[in-house]
Amino acid sequence: MDFTFTEEQRAFKRQVLHFARKEIAPRCQEHDLKGEFDFQSFRRMGELGILGLHFPEELGGAGGDVLSTVLTGEALGEAGVDGGLLLAYGAHTFLCADTIYAHGTEAQRRRYLPRLITGEWIGCLGLTEPGAGSDVAAMRTRAERRGDTYVLNGSKIFITNGPVADVAVVYATVDRSLGHAGISAFIVETDRPGFSAGAPLHKMGVRSSQTSELFFDDCEIPTENLLGQEGAGFLMAMQSVEWDRSTLIAPFIGAMQYGLERCTRYAKERVQFGKPICEYQAVKAKLAEIRIFLEAARGLVYRIAWCKDQGRPLNHLEAAVAKLFVGDWSLEPANAALTLMGGYGYCHEYEMERLFRDGRLAAIGGGTSEIQKLIISKLM
Ligand SMILES: Cc1cc2nc3c(=O)[nH]c(=O)nc-3n(C[C@H](O)[C@H](O)[C@H](O)COP(=O)(O)OP(=O)(O)OC[C@H]3O[C@@H](n4cnc5c(N)ncnc54)[C@H](O)[C@@H]3O)c2cc1C
Repeated sequence: MDFTFTEEQRAFKRQVLHFARKEIAPRCQEHDLKGEFDFQSFRRMGELGILGLHFPEELGGAGGDVLSTVLTGEALGEAGVDGGLLLAYGAHTFLCADTIYAHGTEAQRRRYLPRLITGEWIGCLGLTEPGAGSDVAAMRTRAERRGDTYVLNGSKIFITNGPVADVAVVYATVDRSLGHAGISAFIVETDRPGFSAGAPLHKMGVRSSQTSELFFDDCEIPTENLLGQEGAGFLMAMQSVEWDRSTLIAPFIGAMQYGLERCTRYAKERVQFGKPICEYQAVKAKLAEIRIFLEAARGLVYRIAWCKDQGRPLNHLEAAVAKLFVGDWSLEPANAALTLMGGYGYCHEYEMERLFRDGRLAAIGGGTSEIQKLIISKLM
């Protein structure tokens, strides 16, 4: 295993950092306060090739590898960028576009991927339902085949990009009595009659991402919008969340790096009892602990990305460990970073509380930490 980055990878990371610091970061506090999606930066990410980095060139992507994509996500987080925008990028690219790329027909790939890669269209993925979160197989949204259409009825909840999406990958069951084996995936263009999105939910963190319910009320879609095989949806959903445990998590690691840099600088500058607080052993220990966490989290996530680049089958246990580690155990270092800035850390202006709020999602979205523990113990 070799994680030495090429000059090309390092140069791209520097470019992304520069772009994000200059164009996204200055407005991200305001977007967080107002709960507004940063459309402008999202489209710029499309122009710069960030949304399609790992897709093939013939579809408009850059043909990059997964490790470069992880580095890019890290760079965006490291620039101090709003976690809401990064979540929107993750749901759009790794949940929606990647699922279409992995399971779509040639015609589906050609219709959707070029538009998603440029950011002309925004994508989302609808899996979770009011009564089916961790227990995906309990889903009630139905897809009934009628001639050359499927008719969808039901609803989804907590869908990132729901209110702003042009295209949704939606999971529905063609036969509830089949459990997992009835779940299928569909591509729904959001201007179809019978589709609607709820108002954005008010959230604790990642506030600039727009999260809502999706409603399907006799929503007819052509049969060619079935993604993959009927009944294969459960496996597809599990694959997409598992592989994306490297790419989707990367921005959280970058954000932690940003938090560490901010509080280290603060600890060097903040004088109490006659000397900078970084000279006190308790403060040094906190800084070291955050660094240890970061190194470990990076190693776990890089390994998954590297395996994917090598074309190796996914090790589900390792993927769950990485997700759990970043999701659950990052809270203590994030809290330590906030603590180091004292009262200032608690105030919006100093950003640390925003990083803390945004980071809390990592233990919930894409499968909770409790579910990761179940997966790990089952595989043991
Ligand atoms: C900001 C945000 C964005 C999201 N974006 C998307 C999206 O784009 N698309 C999408 O489809 N979903 C999305 N989700 C949904 C997310 O994936 C779910 O919230 C998550 O999977 C948990 O489901 P739930 O909320 O229904 O909780 P539940 O499954 O009801 O869990 C409640 C609690 O019970 C615990 N629990 C459940 N089962 C077990 C068990 N067997 N053993 C032990 N503990 C258990 C859980 O760990 C949790 O603590 C998003 C959520 C949020 C908050």
